Amino acid sequence: MALTHNLGFPRIGAKRELKFALESYWKGESSIDELKASGAALRQRHWQDQAGLDLVPVGDFSFYDHVLDMSFTLGNLPKRVQGFHGDALDNYFRVARGRSAASAEAHAGSGGVAAGEMTKWFDTNYHYIVPEFTADTAFRLDASRLLEQTAEARAQGLRVKPVIVGPVTYLALGKAKDGSNRLALLPRLLKAYAELLEIFAAQGVEWVQIDEPILATELGADWRHAFETAYHQLKSSRVKLLLATYFGQLAENRYLAANLPVAGLHVDAVNGRDDLLPLIDHLPVHKVLSLGVINGRNVWKTDLNAVLDWLEPLSERLGDRLWIAPSCSLLHVPVDLASERKLDAELQSWLAFALQKLEELKVLAVALNEGRAAVAEQLAANQAALTTRRASPRVHNPEVQAAVTSIDSHLGTRKSSYNERARKQAERLRLPAYPTTTIGSFPQTTEIRKARAAFKAGRLDIATYKAAMRAEIARAVREQEALGLDVLVHGEAERNDMVEFFGEQLDGYAFSQFGWVQSYGSRCVKPPILFGDISRPHPMTVEWSTYAQSLTEKPMKGMLTGPVTMLNWSFVRDDQPRSASCKQLALAIRDEVMDLEKAGVGVIQIDEPALREGLPLRESQWQDYLDWAVESFRIAANGVRDETQIHTHMCYSEFNDIIESIAALDADVITIETARSDMELLDVFDDFKYPNEIGPGVYDIHSPNIPSQKRMVELMQKAAARIPAERLWVNPDCGLKTRQWSEVIPALSSMVSAARSLRGA
Ligand code: GLN
Ligand code: ZN
Repeated sequence: MALTHNLGFPRIGAKRELKFALESYWKGESSIDELKASGAALRQRHWQDQAGLDLVPVGDFSFYDHVLDMSFTLGNLPKRVQGFHGDALDNYFRVARGRSAASAEAHAGSGGVAAGEMTKWFDTNYHYIVPEFTADTAFRLDASRLLEQTAEARAQGLRVKPVIVGPVTYLALGKAKDGSNRLALLPRLLKAYAELLEIFAAQGVEWVQIDEPILATELGADWRHAFETAYHQLKSSRVKLLLATYFGQLAENRYLAANLPVAGLHVDAVNGRDDLLPLIDHLPVHKVLSLGVINGRNVWKTDLNAVLDWLEPLSERLGDRLWIAPSCSLLHVPVDLASERKLDAELQSWLAFALQKLEELKVLAVALNEGRAAVAEQLAANQAALTTRRASPRVHNPEVQAAVTSIDSHLGTRKSSYNERARKQAERLRLPAYPTTTIGSFPQTTEIRKARAAFKAGRLDIATYKAAMRAEIARAVREQEALGLDVLVHGEAERNDMVEFFGEQLDGYAFSQFGWVQSYGSRCVKPPILFGDISRPHPMTVEWSTYAQSLTEKPMKGMLTGPVTMLNWSFVRDDQPRSASCKQLALAIRDEVMDLEKAGVGVIQIDEPALREGLPLRESQWQDYLDWAVESFRIAANGVRDETQIHTHMCYSEFNDIIESIAALDADVITIETARSDMELLDVFDDFKYPNEIGPGVYDIHSPNIPSQKRMVELMQKAAARIPAERLWVNPDCGLKTRQWSEVIPALSSMVSAARSLRGA
């Protein structure tokens, strides 16, 4: 009998209940007990939703982040929050969110507290709080959270499987603040884990899921060794461990993983199918093998018959040792498709959110255990939906496919070299040295948001809406002229979101109403769904850009989102490679670039802030991704004349290790975030001679502080030590949409003065 289980459930709630409960508590509008009650109610509901499974996860619920939960369970609190007297949950939020020195609590004597650093969880868009270590980090187990939740789930009559982050992944994801070797902490850490497992055993827990996703990444010899040390030490525990790996293939870690002394192994069978047969050959015969057969990272219906075709023989072979589950925690998908009111029925029939994925899992289990005939109806319905999807003219557009097939290298290549282009652009644009510009958006005021929402809801007619947006554009142009900026922007008032704005105007994209996925803490994103071949039925930005240009003599920058960012911030098709979808997006953006050029726009910026996010987990696969990502950008950007200046923009990610690919985009100008990191990001230019123009950000737009002219000049001087001054631009780190006009005006005014003083020097 194949057993069913789940690795984790989305905690935010189908209607983002947790988000609202958290934010209300943080604002002081509700009590901590009310917040805790909301958490308990959500857990209860989510367990109810999973009640049909043989084992339900416990401990996957989190008020902010599951890695931070583990830090608290292990008693690994940063020194700055130790000795806090009060509710432990408040202390937890202090690490999660920080606390300013000006807060009431600080006045009571405890001072400000810096938030823990946050970073991306593997290749997902979820962000975790980085565990902090020093050479003298001590661990002190606090199992209360896990025990309470175990008891709660049992009270619902469920068979539970506590979920914890494994010791090796926990160490690997953390940072040693004092530069010490965090692996040296392993023996101490393992004591805490052993203690925890004993507590579970005493509670009669049979299985514990121990997550070690770093097994799907390239591991050095010391980390491989740590796995052996860790699991040999934990093997004496009386609970059975299900070692869970996900997000990709085990590949070269296959033998290591198969032979660790645990009772069961979970692998991602969606991304790691090639691994399976060799893995099974190496798996000791007493071990449970849990196969993640349903994609926990995407929103498409599973092809159940196709899965059964390869799963049935394995089920024969493994018998009771086979478990089935989603590939990873369902944290990365929305909760319930049934909430959607606006997605059309056909499109809905192709999709599965978390609850629907669990239904699929149950159908698979019945088919394996009782034969396909027992679920003939469900299998037929699944087949029918997939058949329509495969054949649908909404998905397949022969014209788009032909255009992709006929892509050749000239499409992505500028007519002349950068030097030649730079000469013609200088003649056309007549910019001073150290030209100033901004990244695109200006403050999104309440009036702007209200107008957009009213228009969307049909309460505002199109003419009134357009007039309101035009007034905002005119204001942005006026302010920029008064400030004396050199290359202006229209301000992006009409855009809710840089992907959604374009996705809504492209064929092949759909938008859910409740398809929220947690990004970090209470923050969620609603990735659009790229379901079909992408085409652009009409120009998307030309009207706004040409209107803005008509108001000024200065060059007006057209503003677009690049194909790679569109792709990386969407749920994308599973029926063709990501590279194919990316190239379709590239052709659509290219059409827009060409239309802007035709309309007389001389500077066009194509934002790619998410370029780095698409990098595969294994470095050995990076080049392949970078090749098609760079090609896609080039297709979008490089059809223009020499005189048209192409800008790109990137921010908030390391890009030093992919600098050659960034240079290969061949944008005339790149603006990047550097102020926040004090120009640290520019170190790469010591060794790598970046060939084109660069605008290193001098204004940290995340801070309400107004940077001084002096500070900006200093930052630019740091840049000029590495990059020839004639190729430098002066600009903020990123868009200004989250700031207020009252902050932006003095900050940009200092920036313009800084540029003027640099020119004088
Ligand atoms: N042009 C966008 C803006 O200014 C860029 C946003 C981003 O980099 N994420 O808001
Ligand atoms: Zn940015």
